[in-house]
Amino acid sequence: MSWAIILHGGAKEIDPEDVDAHRVGCLRALEAGRRVLAGDGSAVDAVEAAIRVLEADPTFNAGFGSALNADGAVEMCASIMEGSGFNVGGVAVIRGVQHPISVARALLFKEEILLAGDGARRFAAENDCELCHFAALVPRSTGRKPVHLHDTVGCVALDSAGRMAVGTSAGGLDGAATGRVGDSPMPGCGFYVDDTVGGVAFSGDGEQIARRMLAAGVLHRMPNASPDAALQSALHDVARIGGSAGGIVLTPAGAFGWQHNSRDFAVAYQSSRMAEPACFANKAQAGH
Ligand code: ASP
Repeated sequence: MSWAIILHGGAKEIDPEDVDAHRVGCLRALEAGRRVLAGDGSAVDAVEAAIRVLEADPTFNAGFGSALNADGAVEMCASIMEGSGFNVGGVAVIRGVQHPISVARALLFKEEILLAGDGARRFAAENDCELCHFAALVPRSTGRKPVHLHDTVGCVALDSAGRMAVGTSAGGLDGAATGRVGDSPMPGCGFYVDDTVGGVAFSGDGEQIARRMLAAGVLHRMPNASPDAALQSALHDVARIGGSAGGIVLTPAGAFGWQHNSRDFAVAYQSSRMAEPACFANKAQAGH
């Protein structure tokens, strides 16, 4: 049985001088996930490993390098889901943890599917997740102006046992209302996975993505549509209400899809059938 993994670094505009950092970051994260899958590890482990790398990289608006909300605080969201038992673990408006995806992972097989705020951080502490000072997630000034209009990170993986998983991690939006929750911890909106149909993760205008339940829309279309066609029609849905987004899809057969109506959408993917990973900053760069 073969494995496959696809991830993205957010639907947004990438400054030309940041394109390389996005490519390098995506490829590093892909390698972390690939290593897990090539060693017959699980899709859940691969997704967590890949997203941890993206969270540690200030290029991306997740974990270290997250946006500051209206009160100047970092509040993050993350989720992980596996597609055989439909287990979901999510955290919302969590502060002071280094890897929100690992907190979500600790919740994955528990009854609750989403913990928010202080309760989420307490759960992180009780489950040996890495805590940090609230301010430690803000990188010291690099002299560059961070642009955090959009950019949740996401990953979908298929392991050699045929199991699938999806994860998202979001650092919030610059100046967002304190306590705001976007689409990324909402199953059926920012993500979903079903081993028999496929997995999908979105980034973009969270409220619009949630209003149109984009991930659910993609999965409903997928039995009769290619991953790219399913993504395209979901993007039309969100564009109709003024939203911009990007999404990645992986099928149980290992087929990839990725589409965006944001200007850029850095993506990397690889499967056991590919000698080298593929990595692009947007569709134009991919030549289609
Ligand atoms: N969807 C995320 C949110 O609304 C942001 C993003 O993906 O750009 O929180």
